[in-house]
Amino acid sequence: MLLAEEDNINRSIKVRGGIYTAKAKEGRYIHKRPPFGYFKTGERKERHLVINEQEATVVRYIFDAYLRNTPLYLIAEQAKEMGFSRSGNVAIQRILSYPLYAGMQYVEPFKEYPGGLFPAKHTPIIDLYTWEQAQAKLRKPDKEKVTIDDEMPLRGVLKCHCGKVVTGAPSRGKMGKYYYYYKCNKTNHLNLSTVKAHDSLTQIFELMSLPENIVKQLRQNTDKVFDQKIAGDKAILAEKKKALEAEEVKQFSIEEKWITNQISKETYDRWAATINRTKISLQATIQKLTSDHQITYKIVQQNLEKLTDLKHIYNISNTIEKQELIRLGFDSNLYYEKGIYRTPTMIDLLAHNTLKMREKNLLIYEKKRGIFANPPLSGMDGTRTRDLLRDRQAF
Ligand SMILES: [Zn+2]
Repeated sequence: MLLAEEDNINRSIKVRGGIYTAKAKEGRYIHKRPPFGYFKTGERKERHLVINEQEATVVRYIFDAYLRNTPLYLIAEQAKEMGFSRSGNVAIQRILSYPLYAGMQYVEPFKEYPGGLFPAKHTPIIDLYTWEQAQAKLRKPDKEKVTIDDEMPLRGVLKCHCGKVVTGAPSRGKMGKYYYYYKCNKTNHLNLSTVKAHDSLTQIFELMSLPENIVKQLRQNTDKVFDQKIAGDKAILAEKKKALEAEEVKQFSIEEKWITNQISKETYDRWAATINRTKISLQATIQKLTSDHQITYKIVQQNLEKLTDLKHIYNISNTIEKQELIRLGFDSNLYYEKGIYRTPTMIDLLAHNTLKMREKNLLIYEKKRGIFANPPLSGMDGTRTRDLLRDRQAF
């Protein structure tokens, strides 16, 4: 019996060793069913994953929508229409957290060999930077749940003076018609009719629009801004590469300590997880910094013109795009108090008419510190402009 038992243990070790080698050393996908987004082809050792373009489109949509702050329930609905068979928010979160989509897989430790995320040999569907951004977002604690309602696009993005995002509710008028109001959960804080709210906001966007000649200037300066950015990126890239090397040294040292029994398994696991996470985040940034600027350049050149009519852009946007435009324009700090919009932060470039906005009782732009979660912007040093240019969502 004992011999048989030993045999079993040996076999199990052999199997686990085989799995470890296949996954960590050879980067193979060993599970029976391919993950959503891939086919499996080939036999035995040659078996590998290839992208299923139709499903991969859904995976790309899920990551993109999630990073654009689309609520999970809406992503789930849309994904289902696109052919994603599993339903519910959890299924979407699971897709977002699979390292396989970024070309990695999780491997259990085996004997003295470390576990963690290892590169897999199949083609990724999502680039590492996007994947890492999604992980960072998933790690954040759940914010208040917001339902998207086209009648009340500001719900979930506009704040009350107390800092809470507004909710909204319809109320029925005498003739049976519905009127919509933005409200704060705390009594007597806010009761703002959506008609007034939207009317003021579109006027604000109209005044944020840039005159033709400024846009022309911007267009002429785009090259300069990009050159500056490329130079800046180079410096950051060198820094990040150094940091990555340092992490690799750390990883080596911690593995050595574990193998020579200087530290416990728990200590090792804790350290290994932290180092692994830092490494992936650094690798993602490096990948991003070495990527092609030409695409961004083109997007900027093609869309600069839109800055001349932001009111129109706002009006033709769908609800999620509207929210994104407001978040970007006011750095997520737009709130409403005593009959007027207020913000401590705003894209400098678009703040050229704030005096007029104040005169017209539309918006008060006062730089304040320490009231809201996001730090206020630091003056006109151009970083915001560069962010704006970098972030294609701004357009
Ligand atoms: Zn309030």
